[in-house]
Amino acid sequence: MSDLYPTIGLEIHAELLTKSKVFCTCSAEFGGEPNSRCCPVCSGMPGTLPVLNHTAVEYIIRAGYVTNYFYPDLPKAYQISQMPRPVCLNGYVDINVGGTEKRIRVNRIHLEEDAGKLVHDEATRSSLADYNRCGIPLIEMVTEPDFHSAEEVIAYVEKIKLLYKYAGICDCKMEQGSLRCDVNISLAPKDAKELGTRAELKNLNSTKAIARAIEYEIYRQTEIIESGQKVLQETRRFSDTTGETTALRSKEDAHDYRYFPDPDIPPIIFTEEELAAIKDALPEMPQQRKERYISQYGMNETDADNIINDKDICDFFEDAIKAYDKPKTVANFILGEFMRRINLGEMSMDSLKFTPKDLARLIELGDTDKINKNNYKTIFVEMINTGRTPDAVCDELDLWVKDDTSAVEAVIDKLIADNPKPVEQYRAGEQKVFGFFMGQANKALKGQATPNTIKAILEQKLKG
Ligand code: ADP
Ligand code: ZN
Repeated sequence: MSDLYPTIGLEIHAELLTKSKVFCTCSAEFGGEPNSRCCPVCSGMPGTLPVLNHTAVEYIIRAGYVTNYFYPDLPKAYQISQMPRPVCLNGYVDINVGGTEKRIRVNRIHLEEDAGKLVHDEATRSSLADYNRCGIPLIEMVTEPDFHSAEEVIAYVEKIKLLYKYAGICDCKMEQGSLRCDVNISLAPKDAKELGTRAELKNLNSTKAIARAIEYEIYRQTEIIESGQKVLQETRRFSDTTGETTALRSKEDAHDYRYFPDPDIPPIIFTEEELAAIKDALPEMPQQRKERYISQYGMNETDADNIINDKDICDFFEDAIKAYDKPKTVANFILGEFMRRINLGEMSMDSLKFTPKDLARLIELGDTDKINKNNYKTIFVEMINTGRTPDAVCDELDLWVKDDTSAVEAVIDKLIADNPKPVEQYRAGEQKVFGFFMGQANKALKGQATPNTIKAILEQKLKG
């Protein structure tokens, strides 16, 4: 029985980036003093009437468009009551795992409201309720059980994060809980006609947790099945500390929930024109940007992928080329030094101290020989740490290229006097010692002259 095969279906909850909550005007922003962002409607007082947030419905329709839903029976009514009539039905998302494309079918996306948070205080043995999150619009997206490995699941989550961020409907901060995943997983022999019994792993809040939870669950269910027992249909929780899942509660099937329409929420009808307007107003999606970078800016596919794969970086790039219209040079800086500092943990897109305009200016200064490009790193590190503009840094550290060539001549004269042997070699035809002199001169001049100036003077003086 070692040919057990995992099958996985995903439920992703995404908090929508609307200003207000789904049924009232309270702020839907993250955080806030406990219970400072609630009213009788979202704290569920009797006698209140919900008024549906139009933007929330527009956003879920956007979510539908970016995951390839199409609306077969326009302009029929779409009614937002959670289960029986989701806004979006039958879409798909293509993922790429290790170079292989795979299509994941999306069963439905529907709109719901988020719940509040309970904080358990051990000291006073009491539970405190924070209703700020109550009523924040949330979309739930449910896939078909089309995944068979953690890699596929993670590729999908990353793709959804990208699509939702570009669509502007969710900030997708898993660590803040604005995007959360439930993983449904079962095992069965590879040729089995039916799927095995699934466990639902609730609220996984990082791709790492998803991978670990799936790995553990495959191990756990394999043990159960191989010892002849049955896996129970239940909801389980994953612990980051132990790396294990534990049972929370047994899971009912959908039909046990007894759904009924909320009499206070009338059906919502979007006309064909309204849907078309939402579709037309969709922000530029990653695939479109990528194609534009390749065709307009002549970027190669890998570079384009690397830039679009982080929306914050990509937006930064867009703003930088608005200030300095040299996409290729700006992209090279971002793909190189910029991303290197991010990967080193020296800067993060959430707390940048400099602006896209500052970066554009730095690159422009180098391109126009106002500074020596060898000083890029020094200046950039100052910008990262202090947020000072490149001009201010160059003033302070005296990094401007000087028009005055006498300093260059003095340095080169000294180099020639100090190094008679390499000079002799050069004059005897050994071209490669030229590099040695260039390096030394550059170092001594601390970037206050351009390589072109140094080269010209050096060539002239070395000739003797
Ligand atoms: P419910 O509404 O009861 O939670 P659904 O049928 O909507 O159940 O399925 C919820 C999720 O579980 C979906 O992503 C689905 O693909 C997945 N799923 C359902 N059955 C299985 C199974 N046997 N193994 C793995 N995943 C499953
Ligand atoms: Zn409210």
